[in-house]
Amino acid sequence: MTTARRRPGRPPGTGGAPGSGQGRSSSTAADAGQAPGTGQAAGAGTATGCDEAAGSGPPVPDRPLVLVDVQNCFSDGFTPPELPVAGVAEVDWAGLLDCWLDGGSPVVATRDWHVDPGEHFAPPGTDPDFATTWPRHGVAGTPGAELVPPVARRAGRLAALFHKGQHGPGYSGFDGTVGADGTGQRLHDWLRTRGADGIAVAGVATSHCVRATVLDALRLGYAVDVLADYCVGVTPEAHCRALAELRAAGATIRSGAVRARGAP
Ligand SMILES: [Zn+2]
Repeated sequence: MTTARRRPGRPPGTGGAPGSGQGRSSSTAADAGQAPGTGQAAGAGTATGCDEAAGSGPPVPDRPLVLVDVQNCFSDGFTPPELPVAGVAEVDWAGLLDCWLDGGSPVVATRDWHVDPGEHFAPPGTDPDFATTWPRHGVAGTPGAELVPPVARRAGRLAALFHKGQHGPGYSGFDGTVGADGTGQRLHDWLRTRGADGIAVAGVATSHCVRATVLDALRLGYAVDVLADYCVGVTPEAHCRALAELRAAGATIRSGAVRARGAP
């Protein structure tokens, strides 16, 4: 599941995507996990390659951002690989976070924090089916469970970090709790106490934990922006299918690089 790249590439003649380069002033090539001078736009603002991502304009930091599972275990830039999703390492997570935080809206993150998640991990001696059973990943306390470096460097600016999947699959960020022991505040309570009626969601993987988080948010009554260029799917097709499903369920799909509030 790890070989397909999410983005087939920018359509011919599109030039720069709207807003590309915005919100990236404080990010660095190191933040984006790439060598300086590669010229890669680090994901944000590149074409998503599917119609499902088009239409509703770029993301704006006007609501809390829920960053789902942007962890080493899912990054194709992490070794040894655990459950890498192609494209995670090239997304401009630093630019997204900096723009969001500079815009005055909070960012919270979720992460898989597996202790004993049952058959979420394929039983020893069996192959994972990559549908309901998976290779070991995101084990509590291991480097694989840590946030990817550009996010980890901003951990002190995260308003909260929710741990999920200690004893089960934990696909939805709304299953998570602040703190690792499962007894802390849940995401819905955290948002309610701050009067949030809408959230933005980005992260990994579009068709799994992002999807589950967005569907729960819609069910709970939140208006949800899905940041298409800051979501990575296990395959391009799965990414596009999930965006279509989430749009049909009531989410707004935002595409392109994040823009500062009030930017033209
Ligand atoms: Zn997991």
